[in-house]
Amino acid sequence: ANVRAHVIGNVAVDETISVSTMPEAGASILGREETRDLGGKGANQAVVMARTGLPTTLVAAVGEDFRAQTIRDQLAPEPVEAKLIALAGRSSDFSIIFTTPDGENAIVTTTDSAGSLTPEEAIAALDTAVSGDLMVLQGNLSEATTLGLLQEARRRDLVTAFNPSPLRPYFGDFWPLVDIAFLNRGEAESLTGSSDTAATEKLLQSGVRHVVLTLGGDGALLASRGAAIATIPAVSTKAIDTTGAGDTFMAVALASAALRGVELDPRAIGHAASASALTVSRRGTRSAFPTTEELQAILAR
Ligand code: ATP
Repeated sequence: ANVRAHVIGNVAVDETISVSTMPEAGASILGREETRDLGGKGANQAVVMARTGLPTTLVAAVGEDFRAQTIRDQLAPEPVEAKLIALAGRSSDFSIIFTTPDGENAIVTTTDSAGSLTPEEAIAALDTAVSGDLMVLQGNLSEATTLGLLQEARRRDLVTAFNPSPLRPYFGDFWPLVDIAFLNRGEAESLTGSSDTAATEKLLQSGVRHVVLTLGGDGALLASRGAAIATIPAVSTKAIDTTGAGDTFMAVALASAALRGVELDPRAIGHAASASALTVSRRGTRSAFPTTEELQAILAR
């Protein structure tokens, strides 16, 4: 299958600072810069998908500032086709990530660039998408841009995958336009008012074809229309830094199925669990993702 993935989302510079404990309000504490890394959910998913060998395009907005250069430099060695849209007068997005020795993290993300991308700019960047291609979205674009892309995808007969993170209350309106949903337990509860299997049932009833609910170290559920729910265990590892675990999971699951020319299946979810176990066992964002070689070995299983 000659499927291409079109990931439209955010790209950010991730500044990871290690601290002994999370700062309290009003506190001034010492920290050490661990990494300055490429991040942003859109970039994370696109980089991992491209490393699996699936042809992948990333569409993301940057500002006109020093961070845009860091972003270009970090994307350059990746096998992804990067369509970066430089927005005049905007700042490139960045995240400050605090990590503690026990693997906990707290993240503050700016969305000046990602939130400013207009529906017209985003849809224009889909120019090479053809019927059967994958369109992959997360929660960082504006409501109008996300909705516009989902509607355009239906017109072009693209398969749509949506990860409603960071969570916004209006995401509930998008489900009829979504083929594949990836969400964690908290997101599922907020958006459906139900938990676990009941949440997946509601999403299937809203029109989604495949729902993947990730449960951290407890693994994941795959609910597909007309099939029994599958439970896929996590791959046990020592969690050092979970940043990007969910993004690795979604990227590898989608790529595994697309590369085999099948709909999302338990084998794809198993591949995703193996890949995200590698991500959580390492520090950083892009630098923690499985390599092309590691992904090849995982996808062969
Ligand atoms: P994040 O926001 O940290 O990227 P998320 O909340 O979107 O993650 P999670 O459900 O926490 O998603 O994790 C996604 C997947 O990563 C899990 O389904 C699991 O396969 C893997 N994973 C996460 N934490 C662990 C862990 N401690 N050990 C092994 N695998 C893990």
